[in-house]
Amino acid sequence: MDRSAFDILSRTYPQEISFLKEDEPFRFLASVMLSAQTRDDYVNAVTPELWRCYPTPEDLSGARLEDIERIIHSLGFYRAKARNLKALAGEVARLGRVPDTMEELVRLPGVGRKTANCYINHVLKEPAVIVDTHFSRVARRLGYTDATDPGEVEMQIRSSFPDSDWSRLSMVLNLHGRKYCHARNPECGICPVRDYCRSR
Ligand code: SF4
Repeated sequence: MDRSAFDILSRTYPQEISFLKEDEPFRFLASVMLSAQTRDDYVNAVTPELWRCYPTPEDLSGARLEDIERIIHSLGFYRAKARNLKALAGEVARLGRVPDTMEELVRLPGVGRKTANCYINHVLKEPAVIVDTHFSRVARRLGYTDATDPGEVEMQIRSSFPDSDWSRLSMVLNLHGRKYCHARNPECGICPVRDYCRSR
């Protein structure tokens, strides 16, 4: 695998950036779940009120669904997210902790591989390939994958790059997708990796 584009993007985006403003394990996991199909800054705007009203998983699991919906109603799919959030809180309260393996994490309500990989990377500080729509698009355009299914994209990247690259690659491809490599009208003319791109 030619890693030239990855190396250039690593220099282009040298900082580690966390878009979600949570570090406590349950709150971070819940925030990632809430961020599906929604901008991270919208999630950051509602979670302080959520934690003020329901500081612990036990509190949140006992909340009325309509009260959770009222707090998170500015987020997309807020009814489904409220249901998942309450169920997630109940399961974490029952377990007494957030699990620390992929197998256990994806058994939690509303938690898929992307959410689990975010958690593994951010909270457990372990290597993870975080596949979202930005990552998939940029990875395909740079020839790092030919898959469209997120699970296949993840597996191809895991087999093409050493695990020491996974978290950094996840971040820089995501940032590049947000900044230049938009789904429509990507800014190829000023893109630092245009010489390595299949789609420019
Ligand atoms: S050249 Fe264009 S399509 Fe290719 S990575 Fe850069 S912005 Fe994306």
